[in-house]
Amino acid sequence: MKTEPSFRESVDIMFNRAVALMDLSPGLEQKIRVCNSTYTVRFGVRLRGKIETFTGYRSVHSEHMEPVKGGIRYATGVNQDEVEALAALMTYKCALVQTPFGGSKGGLCIDPREWNAHEMEQITRRFAYELIKRDLISPSQNVPAPDMGTGEREMAWITDQYRRMNTTDINASACVTGKPINAGGIQGRVEATGRGVQYALEEFFRYEEDKAKANLTGTLDGKRVIVQGLGNVGYHAAKFLSEEDGCKITAVIERDGAVVNPDGLAIEFLKEHIILTGGVKGFAGGEYVEDGAAVLEQECDILIPAAMEGVINLNNAKNIKTKLIVEAANGPVTAGADEILRKKGIVIIPDMYANAGGVTVSYFEWVKNLSHIRFGRMQRRQEESRHRLILEELERLSQDPAISWELSDGFKQKYLKGAGELELVRSGLDDTMRASYQAMREVWHNNPKVDDLRTAAYLVSIGRVAASYRSKGL
Ligand code: NAD
Repeated sequence: MKTEPSFRESVDIMFNRAVALMDLSPGLEQKIRVCNSTYTVRFGVRLRGKIETFTGYRSVHSEHMEPVKGGIRYATGVNQDEVEALAALMTYKCALVQTPFGGSKGGLCIDPREWNAHEMEQITRRFAYELIKRDLISPSQNVPAPDMGTGEREMAWITDQYRRMNTTDINASACVTGKPINAGGIQGRVEATGRGVQYALEEFFRYEEDKAKANLTGTLDGKRVIVQGLGNVGYHAAKFLSEEDGCKITAVIERDGAVVNPDGLAIEFLKEHIILTGGVKGFAGGEYVEDGAAVLEQECDILIPAAMEGVINLNNAKNIKTKLIVEAANGPVTAGADEILRKKGIVIIPDMYANAGGVTVSYFEWVKNLSHIRFGRMQRRQEESRHRLILEELERLSQDPAISWELSDGFKQKYLKGAGELELVRSGLDDTMRASYQAMREVWHNNPKVDDLRTAAYLVSIGRVAASYRSKGL
């Protein structure tokens, strides 16, 4: 019987499959594959009258560009193998979407639900202290972001901790991304990864050839979508796809089971229910199924695993009945499952592309912090006054009795509005998702040895990392 490789081995298998099609020297190949360093820290925090010891990691996969970038995850399953796999994926992801970073990742073994906000702050500050004093959090060397179990709140504590330890650093707020707006964050970061999933799917659906490979036709409108994990990424992806593209979210799988509705679930109400009750059970807008894993195998057009790694594996891959998988989570499909799914003709939009919206908008946030000015602040009103000039001229012309036309309803209002930070962030994200998809699909369609998007994505990103190492003289 085939055994499942670890997460890091799985990433290496996928890397090796791609690199076998390239012409890299074995030395350079190995240099890119290996993780440069992993720091393990064990620290104590006095909580509830006794000292609790926690274990955390920060792994740096590649420093071909600095700072290195990657989220910090809070979960009980965090271990060295996992952070190293995730750090490697960050290297390839950043190269694919052309954000100028190397790859890194961090994690803390903790169940955040077991501690109250004040305790979480003490733990986070102490973890951050350990990383900051070793330059493993720094605006110029290593810039974390949120991941599973962390969000704006933790990022704000980390920034504040960095400031306390680096009181004269004018770029202190660039030490971490995914911060709240009032602590130096950027509009559109919270939604960014889910928004990126939406833009990725919209781009995929622009190409008849690509849809044909997945046995799909038409637009996103009416497509049946199953989402696993209604956290930050899954919630935003499900919300935008259903509210803006007409997708029907036929099932949502969470920790406590799944909720199914063939007519489509109301995502906002479901999210509220989860926040209130801690799970999907009891939601009135769909049928509750205790065995969530079985729902992953239900028929649908698009399956979006947005919870955690390894959920589609050697045990269930043969039963998956979707046409298209969008890897919103990191590593949801193991290397063995990937092979089975490819043979079944299921198209996979790989994690390093599908969930790159987060790091893309993190890049914008980092640039904003270093430039100390909000995007759009200088040009917005100027843009509006130029638009007003054209509109006034058009209105003057329309007074001419010889010309019979008038501006359509709402045009004036829409055309007059200059782009603020949120519009600019979404535009930059959409552009990035389109350009990166195009780079992948060019390889997918033009290299006869490549029959899947994941290998194509690896070829593009490894090629870029290799070029960067070569230009350093390696
Ligand atoms: P999150 O903690 O906000 O949400 C995770 C959700 O998955 C939660 O609702 C949780 O209850 C659910 N979940 C956990 N285990 C589950 C299981 N076994 N079955 C079903 N549901 C389960 O995390 P997130 O930030 O949304 O991250 C989710 C995934 O996306 C991770 O793989 C992460 O690495 C990846 N990712 C996140 C970002 C980001 O910006 N947050 C960026 C890129 C990739």
